[in-house]
Amino acid sequence: MVAEDSFARLVADQAASDHSWGARARQWGMLTVFNQLWESYMLAPSGDVFVDRDDGALSRPSHDERETVHAQAARRHPQLHHLMPHRPPAAQTCPSCNGSGEIAIADGRRILCGPPCNTKGWVTDDVSGPHHRAG
Ligand SMILES: [Zn+2]
Repeated sequence: MVAEDSFARLVADQAASDHSWGARARQWGMLTVFNQLWESYMLAPSGDVFVDRDDGALSRPSHDERETVHAQAARRHPQLHHLMPHRPPAAQTCPSCNGSGEIAIADGRRILCGPPCNTKGWVTDDVSGPHHRAG
């Protein structure tokens, strides 16, 4: 939970966009954390995450989407650092992004690190996932 006026300021200050996403987020009192090609990921003051898939209705995020939005909100806005998922002692720095949450691709562009890291910068072995091996 972040102070109400502090969150409202973030909402008001979010970058104006040619796309209707930015205006809609402001209208709803939510903060656009990041956009992808067909989705806009938004944070409500309660910490709930919503996805605007540009189909006229807000969707609930998947687990991975929710974790990515919380990690990105924490990385981008110091006021929201408490949203970063807690790193367990046994966690290891993500080998894909080396802890940065982003992966450099061609032309100097960077993309968000996907599951199981979800841009947290660390991964654990105690969850089933693509990197998990039984035995
Ligand atoms: Zn990573």
